[in-house]
Amino acid sequence: MFNLDRLTRANIRVLKPYSSARDEFSGQAAVFLDANENPFNTPCNRYPDPLQRAIKQQIAGIRHVRPDQIFLGNGSDEPIDLIFRAFCEPGIDNVVAMEPTYGMYSVAAGINDIVYRKVLLNDDFSLDADRLLRTVDRNTKAVFLCSPNNPTGNPIQEQAIEKIVNRFEGLVVLDEAYNDFSDQPSWLSRLDKTPNLIVLQTFSKAWGLAGIRLGMAFASPEIIALLTKIKYPYNVNVLTQRAVLEALQHRDRVEEWIRTLRSERERMASIWPKIPCIEKIFPSEANFILIRTADPQALYDYLTARGIIVRNRNSVAMCQGCLRLTIGTPAENDTLTEALRTYSSDTSSLK
Ligand code: PMP
Repeated sequence: MFNLDRLTRANIRVLKPYSSARDEFSGQAAVFLDANENPFNTPCNRYPDPLQRAIKQQIAGIRHVRPDQIFLGNGSDEPIDLIFRAFCEPGIDNVVAMEPTYGMYSVAAGINDIVYRKVLLNDDFSLDADRLLRTVDRNTKAVFLCSPNNPTGNPIQEQAIEKIVNRFEGLVVLDEAYNDFSDQPSWLSRLDKTPNLIVLQTFSKAWGLAGIRLGMAFASPEIIALLTKIKYPYNVNVLTQRAVLEALQHRDRVEEWIRTLRSERERMASIWPKIPCIEKIFPSEANFILIRTADPQALYDYLTARGIIVRNRNSVAMCQGCLRLTIGTPAENDTLTEALRTYSSDTSSLK
């Protein structure tokens, strides 16, 4: 049985959080003399809303959840770190994650002195849920899943996620950073029935706001309350809050970007297999495509010399020979495609 109290670190359970001035009073007033702010230099002289209420209200409407099921942080990286700090006892507990995947889960584990157990994906990058569940023991506090996965691009099979959510008695963190680009339904609709689930999403990808640093964690109100209790008091600054409230007024623009990026991904997926230097292109439901090539460093250097920067994933488990290519504007994708073609003809003429 899932028991949140038992999963929570004892020191966090009893912690009395810092109460900021803006926690204690958040209504309308003419004179604010409670937070030792400078009264000049508006509009940035005031502390931000520590609970980001206006933003959560709007996200709740869009994602069909309640505001008390939402945590907002400095990118998704903040809730990832807070999950370790709330639930994992340094030097004792462990987490289990699929491999390869997004690198920050393992870095956050390392920072928090938590053993990070990796479960290799199958050759087609699908997940063997039974193998993952066999890796779990009584000190496993969380399982990290990422769908669609980074850097492989594939969604994780729904049945595999379902099995882990149902059988594992700790927390299941499902990172849906790229879900907007995928055909798979989000797990947010199952939040109410899944008390051990934490879904991560972000404004950095489809929303086009990587620069403002705003990540979302969705979970039960009890889990959200724990993360909120241990966050820095004003973790999302005034400028970020203002920028996202503005962006939330233009959802049609986001929908249009998603349509364009998905269609560009499909265009590249049909063109690139015909380019000789590309040995394999992996199916993707994200805004990037993983490809395999004979000499990834040579191709990486060739592209860099032409001002095109991609991500070399050659040293990542199961990604030998692979580069990860983000889908850009149609013009950027054409520039990359042309460079891939010239690289192919340059290298074949050298042989
Ligand atoms: N999750 C995944 C799977 C990612 O690939 C990334 C960024 N590359 C993030 C989270 C980080 O998102 P954020 O910018 O919100 O910290």
